Amino acid sequence: MIHPDRIVTTVCPYCGVGCNLQLHIRDDLIYRVSSPAESVVNHGNLCVKGRFGYDFVYHPERVTTPLIRRTPQAPGKRTQAFDRSEWRQASWDEALDLIAERLTEIYRTHGSNALAAYSCAKATNEDNYLLQKMVRTLFRTNHIDHCTRLCHASSVVALQMALGSSAMSNTAAEVVDNDVFIVTGSNTAETHPIIALQMKAAIEKHGARLIVVDPRRIEMVNWAALWLPERPGTDVPVFSAMAHVILKEKLYNAEFLASRTQGFEAFAASMETFTPEYAEAISGVARDLIVQAARMYAGARNAAIYWALGIPEHSHGTNNAMSLIHLALLTGHIGRRGTGLNPLRGQNNVQGASDSGAMPWHYPGYQRVDDETAARKFEAAWNIERGGLNRSPGLTTTEILSSVGPGGVRALYIMGENPMMSEPNLNHTRQQMEQLEFVVAQDLFVNESGAYADVFLGGEGRDFHQHRPPGAARPAGTAAPRSFAPGLADYLRPGAAHRAPPGLADRRLDVCRPVRGPGGDGEVGPRVRRRSLLTA
Ligand code: SF4
Repeated sequence: MIHPDRIVTTVCPYCGVGCNLQLHIRDDLIYRVSSPAESVVNHGNLCVKGRFGYDFVYHPERVTTPLIRRTPQAPGKRTQAFDRSEWRQASWDEALDLIAERLTEIYRTHGSNALAAYSCAKATNEDNYLLQKMVRTLFRTNHIDHCTRLCHASSVVALQMALGSSAMSNTAAEVVDNDVFIVTGSNTAETHPIIALQMKAAIEKHGARLIVVDPRRIEMVNWAALWLPERPGTDVPVFSAMAHVILKEKLYNAEFLASRTQGFEAFAASMETFTPEYAEAISGVARDLIVQAARMYAGARNAAIYWALGIPEHSHGTNNAMSLIHLALLTGHIGRRGTGLNPLRGQNNVQGASDSGAMPWHYPGYQRVDDETAARKFEAAWNIERGGLNRSPGLTTTEILSSVGPGGVRALYIMGENPMMSEPNLNHTRQQMEQLEFVVAQDLFVNESGAYADVFLGGEGRDFHQHRPPGAARPAGTAAPRSFAPGLADYLRPGAAHRAPPGLADRRLDVCRPVRGPGGDGEVGPRVRRRSLLTA
């Protein structure tokens, strides 16, 4: 029996369920992962990824020191380097100086919008906050985005249009409080297995009824009271026909509609044509099933809807998500425990990255960059001259790479993303990556995108932050964003050998301002400095 030297409590680095983990560590080695039975999300349960998927921490291919390409890269001739012999190890100072020098050069020659960054939905809120702050205060651009643009983008747009918030409206722990719930576009048992466990418990132990709306006979169909096997791409007619039935049979929540919604009459009129017969002809779902599903959902005390990428990843994904939102608003099944609209996220911190401002339109807290009041507030908080922050919304994830070239993006900083895997058109992405003048990647391993980098900075896996990584790898917040930002700002200091761009040369920015530490001026403890960076 091995006894741990210490047990570190953390969060699973994989999907958006957010299961609690306990890392059992002996001689600085994680030899076991468990989960406390009292954890609210997963009650001690873990899927195979959370239970066993931590060998990456010690993988021999993991990058633990900064790397610089041996062969200088040029636009149009940029190549991928997977073999470690194509890189040389460098000190952090050398790597950061090179990054600062090249980015400043491109800034001076081509302006702020020649620089862009991808942030990371698997990194912490602090890491994402710092990267967007660096991009906005030092690069003076809003060209920063992350993978929220790619997968649940349509859900985000629909939820923000209708509700003003794109987060899950209820917590994963509330699944057992559902009386009725709809699962659609989600193979929950495979992609979010711990939530699927909660769904099964809700049905078996608490008498909840499940409606699956999905073309495939997924595992959750075995637990379903109703399965509506629609043809792919026919979500809107099916859910609109359910709304039609709810309206015709007056199953809607009139009080909720009157006090919490607007445009009801126009919406009701628009649902006239979506009869169950019409939906059956398009979707292949029997009209009786649609009627039963509408009655079951509307008649519940607490009903919720869960969906994954089968809803947003369509050319009409926003309409799909909107048709679900309409059901919740019609019936008032939102705003209470055990109800709600719940997009299931694939990455563990998409929400945090968005909240922290890693998006082209928003500062932290969804305050728009083109809102003068918000911009001035952040200028004051970040010690930027009035009018210094860029008021133009930046480019999205897909737009950043599409704009690479003359007059567009020339330098890219990639933190924990892999556009060479996630962009929709990889041939186009490859062409664009090859045109970049300068690329920095910050990650655990040299992936398909990092292989294009000029400088590679080793990072640390999300939520293993409290466990020391091997070698010289630094926690993500102390590797590039925190160290690099002062590095660039130092580079731009008055009197520096290389003149800084106008607007940046004459001041040291907040990110490198000395902070009074517990021992007096000049003693800058990491905790003190981090807190100061997060006050804005
Ligand atoms: S369900 Fe998601 S968060 Fe939970 S253990 Fe599995 S991968 Fe990790």
